[in-house]
Amino acid sequence: MRLKSKILLARGENGDILKCAWPGGYPLVFVMGDGSTLCADCLNEAEKEELTGDEYVVEGFVIPYESLVVCEECGEQFGPVYTTESG
Ligand SMILES: [Zn+2]
Repeated sequence: MRLKSKILLARGENGDILKCAWPGGYPLVFVMGDGSTLCADCLNEAEKEELTGDEYVVEGFVIPYESLVVCEECGEQFGPVYTTESG
């Protein structure tokens, strides 16, 4: 069973949702129906466990360009891709 999604989820050859945006290889963090943010690993886990409900509908994604984004499931931190430090 695949998670419901309002966006096109990029998947690898094994069907898993990809962790990175291409081009660039930036990390993706997904925004769920309840407004929480989940990493690709947790999304794939939710899919395997066949979790359903509005909170498991993928509404969109964020790329943590300038600020840290935390997965609310496992606590993994992503970004920022760019820092404001010069040099
Ligand atoms: Zn996670």
